[in-house]
Amino acid sequence: MSPAIVILGSGLAGISVARELRKLDKEVPLTIVTADDGGFYSKPSLSNALAAGKSAPQLVLTQREALAAQLNVEIRSHTRVTRLLPGEHAVETDGGRLEYRRLVLAFGAQPIRLPIEGSGVGEILSVNSLTDYAAFRARLAGAKRVAILGGGLIGCEFANDLRIAGNDVEVFDLAPQALGRLLPAQAAAFFRTRLEAAGVRFYFDTSIVRVERSEDGLVLTDTQGKNFSADLVLSAVGLKSETELARAVGLKANRGVVTDMLLATSDPDVFAVGDCVELQGLVLPFVLPIMQQARALAKTLTGTPTTVSYPAMPVVVKTPACPTVVCPPPSGAVGTWCEEVEPAGVRALFEDADGKPLGFSLVGEAVKEKQALAAQMPAWL
Ligand SMILES: Cc1cc2nc3c(=O)[nH]c(=O)nc-3n(C[C@H](O)[C@H](O)[C@H](O)COP(=O)(O)OP(=O)(O)OC[C@H]3O[C@@H](n4cnc5c(N)ncnc54)[C@H](O)[C@@H]3O)c2cc1C
Repeated sequence: MSPAIVILGSGLAGISVARELRKLDKEVPLTIVTADDGGFYSKPSLSNALAAGKSAPQLVLTQREALAAQLNVEIRSHTRVTRLLPGEHAVETDGGRLEYRRLVLAFGAQPIRLPIEGSGVGEILSVNSLTDYAAFRARLAGAKRVAILGGGLIGCEFANDLRIAGNDVEVFDLAPQALGRLLPAQAAAFFRTRLEAAGVRFYFDTSIVRVERSEDGLVLTDTQGKNFSADLVLSAVGLKSETELARAVGLKANRGVVTDMLLATSDPDVFAVGDCVELQGLVLPFVLPIMQQARALAKTLTGTPTTVSYPAMPVVVKTPACPTVVCPPPSGAVGTWCEEVEPAGVRALFEDADGKPLGFSLVGEAVKEKQALAAQMPAWL
């Protein structure tokens, strides 16, 4: 008998759908196919695990066998999906063909690679999985100087974590400030000062175009020809939704796999969830949107079609040197940032022409206002 529901991917999205499904239906046959080991870990912990002294195996919260038993699910681990065959209700994998009644794509997102040249390019690391984290930890042994490409959320989290772990850290970003558009100017300046006080060195308006291997480590060169030395280069310039397999069979894809409000793709028996999804033009690669999606999709898959809703979902930036929470305004929203700067923090509200708050950023002690402000924000969807 073919499994009724097949989930492709065992990240937070795939596992959350399985968990939510089992709350509603204990019996429906369920299979998860994953290129990973299939154990459950929390991906956000990858960028604050060094300071906590955690190795990759220590980050696994539930081992594959225990997870399979807990969720009454077959997990096909270390198995790569090579082709979707929606016309045949089947997928091809490097471990054989598998049929489904309903399919859930939970392929996540892949790190963006900058067009950098040089003999050291192959040594640039990204950390987007447990396997990546294990490789990063191994390469860090004996490496003191770490260069981080990208001063966004993940780059800054790694910078802070590496500093706590005792590394020298330099962060390079093309933008004029940290955390890109998530922070208005004064909040960004406060954030920078706090991270610099913790020992992080920032180089803004700086684009690295070359990484060469030398006897003494790696040499990075920017567009102006200025050189910087490092033992390890970590790229954190953003993620790109994994859409390739969906696109290859004509499923609608844009920045992510395009779905309707039920998370159905352009094939009504194929759904998508997590970092690979584009819903109403929104690609939101964060934990809270995945939870909203998983709850709604589980209901839909068990016979109660349920649309996804997004309340405003603030994101906590894990930089202990400067506690930070961001809740960006809906994309395209018109308004202005109003910043209240105190010695201990900055409270920034994004307000429309009538003074109605549409988004906020809080740094330093101002983060204690997170709950109260989140409750005032309009829903995103
Ligand atoms: C370092 C880091 C820190 C973060 N911190 C935060 C945070 O503090 N707060 C927050 O809200 N969000 C954070 N995020 C984002 C959050 O972790 C992600 O949004 C979430 O984990 C994505 O889950 P996912 O299941 O969609 O994707 P993934 O976890 O990427 O899972 C994708 C799955 O698909 C599988 N797969 C892909 N292609 C194939 C294939 N062809 N065949 C078989 N399997 C395949 C993979 O093996 C994997 O199992 C962070 C992300 C990173 C990288």
